Formats: sequence, structure tokens, C-alpha cells
Amino acid sequence: MTDLDHTHDPALCSWVASANAADTDFPIQNLPLGMARATGSTGAFRPVTAIGDQVLDLIAAAELGALSDALGAVLRTCEGLGLNPLMAIGPGLRRQLRHELVAALQDDAGPKQAALLAPALKPMSEVEMTLPCRIGDYTDFYAGIHHATAVGKLFRPDNPLLPNYKWVPIGYHGRVSSTGVSGQTFRRPLGQTKAPEAEAPGFGPVKRLDYELEVGALVATGNEPGRPVPIDEAEQHLFGLVLLNDWSARDLQAWEYQPLGPFLAKSFATTISPWVITMEALAPFRRAFTRPDGDPRPLPYLDGAANRERGAIGIRLEVHLQTRAMRDAGQAPAKLMASDFADAYWTVAQMLTHHASNGCNLQPGDLFGSGTMSGPAADQGGSLLELTQGGKQAITLPGGEQRTFLQDGDSVALVGRCEAPGRRAIGFGPCVGTVVPGGAWGVGGPPGRRA
Ligand code: MN
Repeated sequence: MTDLDHTHDPALCSWVASANAADTDFPIQNLPLGMARATGSTGAFRPVTAIGDQVLDLIAAAELGALSDALGAVLRTCEGLGLNPLMAIGPGLRRQLRHELVAALQDDAGPKQAALLAPALKPMSEVEMTLPCRIGDYTDFYAGIHHATAVGKLFRPDNPLLPNYKWVPIGYHGRVSSTGVSGQTFRRPLGQTKAPEAEAPGFGPVKRLDYELEVGALVATGNEPGRPVPIDEAEQHLFGLVLLNDWSARDLQAWEYQPLGPFLAKSFATTISPWVITMEALAPFRRAFTRPDGDPRPLPYLDGAANRERGAIGIRLEVHLQTRAMRDAGQAPAKLMASDFADAYWTVAQMLTHHASNGCNLQPGDLFGSGTMSGPAADQGGSLLELTQGGKQAITLPGGEQRTFLQDGDSVALVGRCEAPGRRAIGFGPCVGTVVPGGAWGVGGPPGRRA
């Protein structure tokens, strides 16, 4: 697990003035990684870091001599591809990148360094971002025990948690092709649904469209087939975290999920934040991984001293909703709830070790979803399914509009911020997605039914 070092010093400041603002997500202690290009450009996306309201082109920084040749060579291979080569190089060089960036951007580096790097900096408002890496495989876990319990209660009031829940980090294989970064819009999905009282299913736009507040984890170095990853080594295989919205069509899900689990209810869209917060940047926000008294201890392959002492990560998570009417009226998004990632029932290390425990090989750029991160209280549901008790109790927004599930034009924003006493706070940046009217097959329904 990453140790604290001088790069986490809360007193550290940058010569990029906006990085020193108290409320920035991107002070010099963060240095998240992503892929960007000038807005409207047709050029290749290039690896970048964020510092305050600026973006630093890492290949340009290497060419200007601010990064070592070894890192420059790796960064160049990321151009037009994604961060996968950087993910594959191992924890030593990754830490070196953080150290070299802090040396280049801290205010001690002085006006000379500022002048040298000026050509590599661009305002964040002038770039567009894409997925941080080529995601090979995507696995969505179910580590939010408050979500699992609340949702389980809707279906099985006296037996909300299935017997395997406290023993196995449950997950299913998700879809990569429809994954986008913040700013993603998607059409309301069509699908086969069946109302409980209906005799036969029908086909059409889904009515119970929902979001899920999740944290995504990206795999760094992989493992060979047949070679599991011991829990004490799991963190070396993790690159960093993003916010993840697992858009879900509940009416589709209810009809299709048995016996093989989620399929089309989830595969139409997933939105992640474009900035990867590295495991190194998260080091000051690690917390003990604990279980309530009376709950089973994880089996030995999922249990280790480091995981017990610092396996959890404190991230304050929030969901904000802005309807089309609110947007038209210039009204700010409304905060619907808040929770903490430290409440996850399984740590990211346990997810990774469990995933590889059968010999499955993970690859650089693989994505895990944490599962919906609801808090323990009823008003801390990480999905509308929970906040509206299965669509039975509408929530009222500040402007007076009501919602049970999402309407066309609704934008959902996830927020993630790490704060700890005596530490410089860091944030995840935006993770916004918007649903627009469906009708992918046009007026008149699916092609087979056209007159
Ligand atoms: Mn999910």
C-alpha cells in the first residue's frame, strides 16, 4: 500500500495559482491522470494531469525536460491510445511520475519553471476529455451493503441479504462499449418489460430509468492466467479510482434478471469521471477496514494486515439532479444525498484479489464498479429506487417538480471529495450524464413492426 511522503504535505503549494484555492479539486497533492485534447480538435488524445484549473500535457512536459526520459518514452506510447502503457509499468515508475510532477509544479520551482512549462499548460475549459484508457473488461461489484439490503427488502422483506453476501464479493460482467466520460448523453433505452399485473410483456421506452452512485477502480499491472493475486499485493495492481454512474432501467431489470443477472438493464450506458485519482493521491484518506460485531471475518484469502489497517478509503460521495426545467430556469442542480465510500462492505483490494482468485487474468485498464454506495440512513440511498422506495414515494425537488424515476432531459452529477483532518482535500472532478428522449428505432417502434 502506498505510503505517505513529501508529495502529501498539506503545506505544498504550486506556482499555478488556481491550484492553491481551498475549494479546488486539483491541488498539487492530487495530480490526477487523464486523456485530453484541445476542444474541437481532431488530433489524438494525449496524457495529461490537472493542476488547479489548468491541464498539463505530459508529453510536452517531458519534451521540455520536466520529466525523465524513461517516463517520457512511456507517455509517448499513450498518445491516441490511453493510459494503458502507464498502467502496465508498475508502481515504481508511477510513483516517480508523481514525484517528478510535484518537483516541476511546486512553487519552489520558481518563475523559471513556470516560463519553461507555460507552453505545456492549457486552461481546462479549452480541452475535451475521453476515456482515460482502453477498458478491456468491466466488472460491476455489489459492495454497498446498505444498497443490497434496501433493494433486497423491496423484493424479499424478511430476507433482504442473500446468504452469500457477507462471504463473497458479488459481481457480474458488464459492458464496455457504451461507457463514456462526464458529459455523456444517451437515449432513453427501449426494452422488453412486463408490469406485474400484465399477462404478457411489451416493448417500448423504459419507464423506471435510474442512476447508481458508484466508485470505479482501474487495474494497473495485470496477472498471468492461473496466477491469483495475494491480498497483500492487490494494491500494487490498482492504478486509481474514478466516479461511476451505472445507469439502470429498473423495469427492464426486474423482468430479465433471473436467472443470469443484469443484462440490457445496464448495458446501454455507463458514465465515468475522466480524471483518474491515483492510489498514491488517495494515501492520506485510507481508513481501517472493519466489520460490524457478529459479521463473519473474510476468508483468509481476502484477509490481510494492511487491508485491515488501511484497506478502506474515505470519499464523501454525493448525487445531484438537474431537470431540464431547472436548467432552463438557470437553477443549480439539487443535492439528493450523501454517503461515504469507507462504508463499502468490501475493499477494492478484496475485489481485485477475489476477481483473480480463480485464476482469471486481469489486464491494465480493466474497470471495476464498486456497487451502489448508499449510506445507512433512508435518505442516503445511492439510487432513486431506494430514495423513492421502489417508485412508491416521489421526491420533491427545490423548484417543486417531483420524481420517482428519471425523466428525459434530466442530468445526474456525481461528486467525490476526500477530506481528512490535517490533510489537503482533493476531489474527483465532474461526472455528469444526461438522458435524452429515446426512439432509437424512430416513430412506429422496431423495424419489424413498421407498416
Ligand atoms: Mn451497479
